[in-house]
Amino acid sequence: MTKDKKSNLEKETPEEEVLFTSLRASAWPEFYGQKNVKQALNIAISAAKKRKEPIEHILLYGPPGLGKTTLSHLIAKEMNVNIRVTSGPAIERAGDLASILTNLEKGDILFIDEVHRLNKIVEETLYPAMEDYALDIIIGKGPSARTLRLDLPQFTIIGATTRIGLMSAPLRDRFGVIHRLAFYEPDELSEIIRKGAIKLKTKVDKDSIAEIATRARGTPRIALKLLKRVRDYAQVHGTGEIVKGLTDKALEMLNVDSVGLDNNDVRYLKSIIEKHGGGPVGVETIASTISEDIGTIEEVIEPYLLQVGFLKKTARGRTATLAAYKHLGIELPKGLKQGKLL
Ligand code: ADP
Repeated sequence: MTKDKKSNLEKETPEEEVLFTSLRASAWPEFYGQKNVKQALNIAISAAKKRKEPIEHILLYGPPGLGKTTLSHLIAKEMNVNIRVTSGPAIERAGDLASILTNLEKGDILFIDEVHRLNKIVEETLYPAMEDYALDIIIGKGPSARTLRLDLPQFTIIGATTRIGLMSAPLRDRFGVIHRLAFYEPDELSEIIRKGAIKLKTKVDKDSIAEIATRARGTPRIALKLLKRVRDYAQVHGTGEIVKGLTDKALEMLNVDSVGLDNNDVRYLKSIIEKHGGGPVGVETIASTISEDIGTIEEVIEPYLLQVGFLKKTARGRTATLAAYKHLGIELPKGLKQGKLL
């Protein structure tokens, strides 16, 4: 991953982690947007509470920074249970999983981030745990090996993934509730920014909020990150109050363009347009042209470009759309009929 990508889109650095924890929506009314998901989750929560049972296993998927972790904490709060946080790659052995699960109390939530990255053995150990609240432990080796079944407290797994396509079907099917988080509308992001500014005790004008919201790639994490960067800029170059003139300058300095594309998005699009005749071109080829990891391209860069209509995915590969040419100010190649472009 390149440095730029880290600055804008990756999970938090320790300093940012503190910031995001302090800015994290800590109650349902502070969690804006995702109306349908919220509604469905609230029904599932109420039903579970009525039955006095743990809530079903939940899978949340969608690009990074859209609120999967935050939602999981809110669910735990609403159910009045503990939440234990881990991630797919952190559970290396079946034994690691066993020790986490046996330490849960009835009703607790285990949040597994990047659940698509669980290894096969751990994943298979998880199946009976999810279905029957039981762990099958193999004792001994060879012909004398025996399986011991260990009962577990009833618990809930909330899995989060940016790559649902990489999950195995058996694992996916064990989640009773599956929700996709969508990109946010600018007015929803505006609310998140307004609330974030209050928490940061920073004054920000309406125009700046709107500007940051349109450039945040539909993503709360990026909106809050930009807010913080703009606040720093306003503290150094002004009185600390965020006003439109300073916001524009700060965003320009951060290389975030009018619709929120950063250097990596532009490099990606230009590689399709300038090096591969506008497409169609395979993702592997683009990845090697711009020296970017395929996972990052599919997880972080492409979802937003598809959303804003700058990219089309076809069976033959990726194609830049007419809107992408226009946005980047690139002339259509001579002789290329507009009809050929999407
Ligand atoms: P994910 O787990 O999907 O990567 P997070 O839950 O870590 O995303 O969210 C990143 C940041 O954005 C957090 O500070 C969180 O509070 C904020 N955030 C995400 N979604 C919302 C929302 N719907 N309303 C308010 N803040 C949000």
